[in-house]
Amino acid sequence: MAIKTFPAKLVWHKMLSPKVKHLAFKREDGEKLNYIPGQFISVHFEHEDKPLRRSYSIATVDQTSDLIEFAISYVPNGPASELLMNLEVGQTLNFSGAYGRLILRDEPLQRLFLMATGTGVTPYRCMLPTLAQHLQANPALKIILILGVQYRQDALYADEFIDFAKKYPNFEFRTYFSRDELPGRLPHEYQGYAQHAFDALLMNPETDTVYLCGNPNMIDDAFNQLKENGFAIQQVRREKYVS
Ligand SMILES: Cc1cc2nc3c(=O)[nH]c(=O)nc-3n(C[C@H](O)[C@H](O)[C@H](O)COP(=O)(O)OP(=O)(O)OC[C@H]3O[C@@H](n4cnc5c(N)ncnc54)[C@H](O)[C@@H]3O)c2cc1C
Repeated sequence: MAIKTFPAKLVWHKMLSPKVKHLAFKREDGEKLNYIPGQFISVHFEHEDKPLRRSYSIATVDQTSDLIEFAISYVPNGPASELLMNLEVGQTLNFSGAYGRLILRDEPLQRLFLMATGTGVTPYRCMLPTLAQHLQANPALKIILILGVQYRQDALYADEFIDFAKKYPNFEFRTYFSRDELPGRLPHEYQGYAQHAFDALLMNPETDTVYLCGNPNMIDDAFNQLKENGFAIQQVRREKYVS
């Protein structure tokens, strides 16, 4: 069955870091995108006369807005990277969606770990209003967002997560830098790979639910580590960013 696509126009964009751009699109057909925070949309385009499709996690934090926002990390010579990085305000692309199962479920939670690398943090940005509701409804809930990047400049939306942590003391934000030497380390900053957080945080299959999003290698490493520590498959939800 043919996929139903819809046109959407680029309304604004900004660079979040030297390699990552945040884009905001508005549907041209006047309809609102139905999505659950954590899901992704696909962009459909032609490259060298072949139809291509690439997916991007929805980053929109204001769910009352009719904008579809996402962040793209530039891959040199990648067809979607070149298209999206060079797109100008007012230009239109075709999208479909929303898709995906990296969504918050209606389930009892004690400790919720949201781990990402790079742009894999965008679904968690989209979840912030829902996370706020969970934290308000359940004072015993602890949520830990762990973001793995190479350098401090790559820590996307860090200010927003820091602000959220100030507002909700049971929300902790940690950034792990695999390359930076970290002069003047801030309280939420750590050295190493994101998966290193698991040892420090004493992961416990009795109490913890884990979401993993982004680089497939990080996800496989983290998943294997969790399995070795007694986690069942259904306690670990994954979204791998593969082409
Ligand atoms: C469910 C889902 C959600 C996704 N969400 C996002 C998102 O929110 N933001 C985002 O930026 N991407 C996201 N991706 C990845 C995205 O769909 C594209 O794969 C990515 O933008 C590269 O597409 P491209 O056409 O530019 O390059 P491609 O033609 O796909 O890749 C060109 C070459 O670079 C390699 N490559 C691809 N990605 C990377 C990478 N990250 N690092 C190094 N080499 C790479 C490929 O193996 C290939 O050899 C998501 C993927 C999936 C499946």
